[in-house]
Amino acid sequence: MQGYIINLNKVKEEDLIVTILSKKNLYTLYRFYGARHGTINIGFKIDYEIEDSSKATISRLKDVIHIGFPWMNDYKLLRLWQDFLALFHKHLKDTEDIGTFYFDLIEDSSQKWGKQNPKRIAVEAYVKILSHEGRLHYENICFLCSKKIENKISLLRAYLPTHERCSYTLSINAHALEELFTNHSSLFLSDKEIQRLWIVLLEGL
Ligand SMILES: [Zn+2]
Repeated sequence: MQGYIINLNKVKEEDLIVTILSKKNLYTLYRFYGARHGTINIGFKIDYEIEDSSKATISRLKDVIHIGFPWMNDYKLLRLWQDFLALFHKHLKDTEDIGTFYFDLIEDSSQKWGKQNPKRIAVEAYVKILSHEGRLHYENICFLCSKKIENKISLLRAYLPTHERCSYTLSINAHALEELFTNHSSLFLSDKEIQRLWIVLLEGL
């Protein structure tokens, strides 16, 4: 099986509790420390097996093979990737049936990650998530004062639209935002706007 590590917790010195997002499921598994085991980390894509144990309440993660990405040696790209994937744990950890959407989205993002500004890829992926979950707010009504927004839209967590004057955060060009929300493209957003949207994204999916 293949999946992405979205959370790690150290237990008993070197053993780990690992949460893996696979094609259709979220697995939380126990990995025993082994001197010859390669190190694993959040964001890694791995091939693995699950060994059920009648004694333990948690199944065991074994036969782990790390599947690298071409951009993996770039520390900055890796850190951004890890920050991005860690968001999925909080968001999905209590969900039972997650479907293939999230795995496919991460798979797609991993293939683009080294080719363009990764924050753009993450912002575009996040809008796809909001759209998939029916949480994308197209209508320009301010979340804080409930009045229509004519221009200068500022986004809060979950990309909720507000007046710039209501939230006191950097406003995003309305046309560029429409392109993002409608076609999931960040084409018309400046790097400064992308940086703002990335920071909002880090607050949680
Ligand atoms: Zn307002």
